[in-house]
Amino acid sequence: MIAQPADQYGDIRDAVRALCAQFPEDYHRRIDEARAYPEEFVEALTRAGWMAALIPEEYGGSGLGLTEASVIMEEINRSGGNSGACHGQMYVINTLIKHGSADQKRRYLPPIAAGDLRLQSMGVTEPTTGSDTTKIKTTATRKGDRYVVNGQKVWISRVQHSDLMILLARTTPADRVKKPSEGMSIFIVDVKQAQASGGLTVKPIANMVNHETSELFFDNLEIPAENLIGTEGQGFKHLLSGLNAERALIAAECIGDGYWFTDRVVSYVNERTVFGRPIGQNQGVQFPIAEAYIEIEAANLMRFKACRLYDEGQPCGAEANMAKYLAAKASWEAANACIQFHGGFGFANEYDVERKFRETRLYQVAPISTNMILGYIGQHVLGMPKSY
Ligand SMILES: Cc1cc2nc3c(=O)[nH]c(=O)nc-3n(C[C@H](O)[C@H](O)[C@H](O)COP(=O)(O)OP(=O)(O)OC[C@H]3O[C@@H](n4cnc5c(N)ncnc54)[C@H](O)[C@@H]3O)c2cc1C
Repeated sequence: MIAQPADQYGDIRDAVRALCAQFPEDYHRRIDEARAYPEEFVEALTRAGWMAALIPEEYGGSGLGLTEASVIMEEINRSGGNSGACHGQMYVINTLIKHGSADQKRRYLPPIAAGDLRLQSMGVTEPTTGSDTTKIKTTATRKGDRYVVNGQKVWISRVQHSDLMILLARTTPADRVKKPSEGMSIFIVDVKQAQASGGLTVKPIANMVNHETSELFFDNLEIPAENLIGTEGQGFKHLLSGLNAERALIAAECIGDGYWFTDRVVSYVNERTVFGRPIGQNQGVQFPIAEAYIEIEAANLMRFKACRLYDEGQPCGAEANMAKYLAAKASWEAANACIQFHGGFGFANEYDVERKFRETRLYQVAPISTNMILGYIGQHVLGMPKSY
């Protein structure tokens, strides 16, 4: 492994690495080949308390900050695993912590911290509206002490491995609100109960990554009114701070991937001898790897800046988006160099390069595509007209 300067998170890194070492790359490869869910791995992370890192101590969690949570995610990816199986709980939980009522927090946080309940899923994206979130068509209509939900979501991850989901739905029609971002609300949905009632149908989507993700169909699903999180109509705003956490965490995962790719390719090109010398002695091989490494290091600075601002309670939308942009780009460059310089062997499953290559590619598109980040920076940071 390429030596990294020590930081103040050494204890967390060592502990997460030790746990990850019990689940070596062949474990993740077998899970990937079987298109299965790494249940034992997620369970081990949960039992060791890592999945409750952000839950305040009074509710049984460790009360750590986003910075520490990001280190956990980074180390999982750096070990050859994929945080995509479990990162949902890390960013979704903040929405509940920040905007949930005292009753909701008392009811849900302790069993989540204890590992008896999972909150791994967030339902935002819809098939006909995509990145244009304020146009969502799923509605939640208040009827007495319930909301009745109708509509459709797509690409909703980990829903089959989660007890709870946070759902975004429109509670006031878009033509009756001042701003399109108003009139949407977020709810806690008990996934198993919703399925049992017939109000929610889950249809898994076969996809390029071993990432459990599904289409959801809501047909008069009844949710108790007490499951509304925060203020009715302000759900999009409530969700945004959680989305900043999501961007920063995914940046950290990409950094973990980036280090995994550079470690892997450096040791390969130093060993592999063609034309009588190690292939790493060729500048055409060495430079793209060095370039990717420089970009990972630079992205890492922005990731820590975004996490620090988040932990200080300061605005961090720009930094979280820039960190995600830089890190996803850097990990993708590292992935390309890694597969390229493994030659044919990069395509063999047993090297894990092709698996990690597929996994890191996702972050150019989800949870927010690179173009949408550029549009956000162009408008909100640089003051150009809204382009989307
Ligand atoms: C494996 C996977 C897991 C996911 N998990 C979840 C989840 O758990 N919960 C959830 O809610 N969603 C999830 N998503 C959805 C993800 O957030 C969306 O796929 C993503 O936001 C892009 O939306 P879209 O697919 O509808 O693409 P579109 O919005 O249709 O965009 C398609 C492409 O066009 C480009 N584009 C669109 N509009 C513009 C514009 N104005 N300017 C420039 N370029 C533009 C985009 O950059 C994008 O690359 C997941 C997706 C995947 C693939």
